[in-house]
Amino acid sequence: MGYNCVVLIKQVPDTKRITGEVMNDDGTVRRSALPAIFNPEDLNALELALQIKDKFGGQITVITMGLPAAGAILRDSLFRGADDAILLTDPKCAGSDTLATSYILSCAVKKNDYDIVLCGRQAIDGDTAQVGPQLAEKLGIPQITYVEKLIEISDRTITARRNIGNGWQQVRTKLPVLLTVTSEANEPRVAAAKKMMKYKSAMTPIETEKEVRSLPRAQSRGQKAEDSEEEIKKLVEKKCSELEERGLLIKQWDLGSIEADLSWCGQSGSPTKVHRIQSVVLGTKESKNIEPNDQGISDMIHELIEDKIIA
Ligand code: FAD
Repeated sequence: MGYNCVVLIKQVPDTKRITGEVMNDDGTVRRSALPAIFNPEDLNALELALQIKDKFGGQITVITMGLPAAGAILRDSLFRGADDAILLTDPKCAGSDTLATSYILSCAVKKNDYDIVLCGRQAIDGDTAQVGPQLAEKLGIPQITYVEKLIEISDRTITARRNIGNGWQQVRTKLPVLLTVTSEANEPRVAAAKKMMKYKSAMTPIETEKEVRSLPRAQSRGQKAEDSEEEIKKLVEKKCSELEERGLLIKQWDLGSIEADLSWCGQSGSPTKVHRIQSVVLGTKESKNIEPNDQGISDMIHELIEDKIIA
């Protein structure tokens, strides 16, 4: 008996590469100026799902909500061992805060047959760590957050160890469950060469359309724009059905496909309002040299206790 896992993955700008040049005057980041990567802890979530599949069997489906470019992390997941991949993309998702994002993702997860839903603990761009817990709430299933080790799964009961900052806690619950996974949980495996060969041409319909539009086509003299569009549509449909036959068409859903209530999506479903963004620059007076000896460390600890920073 296997366990079906759904893993939520997010494409994020590589925030380690933020420099002054990619910052806008209003304190926001120019996302397009940074390379887009697989959110690091989502790789740990995928790895945990792969370990569950290796041990018990079952299917792994990865879902991302994002722009068409997020097809790249779906292909990467297939290279690493996921069985199925879904791109959830719709202009009506724009402006979604965590409440709307988790609602939209919950509608997509409900379309799947799942035992375990896995998220990363936190995305490195939004940084809230809210989506996993909100998603569990909307699915009406228990959650184990900050998972650093999976202890066991038996009789549809899961036991995991969660990191609680200054220690750990062992939690047991019934399936279905949602886990948020930390970077300590495992070392994500690399892409398998065989799977890369198999899935390197896997594409979403929107990527297929982009490719078809980029191909040089013989322009018939006097051809009307509508005819040209009709020709493109037919070519895209043909290419998509060829990919589907070869098991290489990545699924693409919009808000209609998941029967989402539009009033809960995008800006209308997002109560969060950003009032002000402040850049905090630490001045040199806020840093202090500590002598690397017992006395230096002891002085520092006393100072931190006096300032009530530690107890
Ligand atoms: P976290 O809660 O830190 O993520 C935890 C985990 O949840 C991730 O590791 C991953 O497993 C899962 N997860 C999170 N997001 C996704 C996803 N999209 N797909 C699959 N899994 C996911 N962002 C935009 O891109 N465009 C916008 O127009 C936009 N408008 C916003 C407007 C407002 C007012 C606010 C407050 C935010 C807006 N955002 C927008 C940011 C967006 O809300 C967050 O990126 C998103 O809700 C996820 O939150 P987070 O990044 O903090 O994820």
